[in-house]
Amino acid sequence: MTLPLLPTSTVGSLPKPSWLSEPEKLWSPWRLEGDELREGTLDALTLAAEEQRRAGLDIISDGEQTRQHFVTTFIEYLNGVDFERRETVRIRNRYDASVPTVAGAVSLDGSVFADDAAHLRAVTDRPIKWALPGPMTMIDTLYDAHYGSREKLAWEFAGILNQEALALEAAGVDIIQFDEPAFNVFFDDVRDWGVAALERATEGLKAQTAVHICYGYGIKANNDWKLTLGSEWRQYEQTFPLLQASSLDIVSLERHNSNVPVELLGLLRGKRLMVGAIDVATDRIETPEEVASTLRGALAHVDADKLIPSTNCGMAPLSRGVAAAKMRALVAGAEIVRGEVA
Ligand SMILES: [Zn+2]
Repeated sequence: MTLPLLPTSTVGSLPKPSWLSEPEKLWSPWRLEGDELREGTLDALTLAAEEQRRAGLDIISDGEQTRQHFVTTFIEYLNGVDFERRETVRIRNRYDASVPTVAGAVSLDGSVFADDAAHLRAVTDRPIKWALPGPMTMIDTLYDAHYGSREKLAWEFAGILNQEALALEAAGVDIIQFDEPAFNVFFDDVRDWGVAALERATEGLKAQTAVHICYGYGIKANNDWKLTLGSEWRQYEQTFPLLQASSLDIVSLERHNSNVPVELLGLLRGKRLMVGAIDVATDRIETPEEVASTLRGALAHVDADKLIPSTNCGMAPLSRGVAAAKMRALVAGAEIVRGEVA
């Protein structure tokens, strides 16, 4: 994988076309079914790759067009999870959701996304990135009636994710990303087993490995939570030293319009950083100069050859037009700073 200086990327999800599912909504139900749904999701994936190419992004993602939700869709394919048996749990200590139950030993037959990844590989020559949920975030989106231990279940999921990651790598994926928003909430678990479980999920991979930790999609529960966090968000201070010492290659973090103190980026010295220069919680389009300013701030704490300009989080809940404009702003802002650094 060869990348230019300051290669641009999104975190992952993009809005879906309205013929595929209802726009600007999380967990939006599909508007197609059966073979038509399969054909539709792959068409949408092709479109998402093309929109990223037109915007000028250097690292292309699938836009998560073949999944309804970044965690739930993966879990749907697992043995041992009963989707009929639902319990209400508190997600990331923030909002209640009705979730499926782990009712027996968990396992995965084959791969969930390898065919989709091969499709993405076939429609672009640029490096491609694929996101999977992290073990801790999966646990946080389930009710466990079998293992009786978050840590035990995490190790099971880590093994399954490793199986999936190896299949994605074989399909041609260059960067495999694990989404762990739960790392911003359960700090004792992150220290005790969270990072170790993540390393287990990446075992034996030659592809670059990334972990995405954010303050969530721009939905009301997350925005309300952010208001309680005060003027300095120091959550990353607890996890970054552990990740700096880990085998993970890339850390994806939130920065623009957030109260994350920029000097916390220095705790990850030596790692590649996907720095969020696009706010996904507003429809307002960043100017290229605003993006450039966020990137310049980051460059005081990360080497230029390790900086990947990115979005704060996924853009699934936005409109397609807004998401496309934000991608163009990201690319234009990175271009300004590229000229200054080179
Ligand atoms: Zn996120």
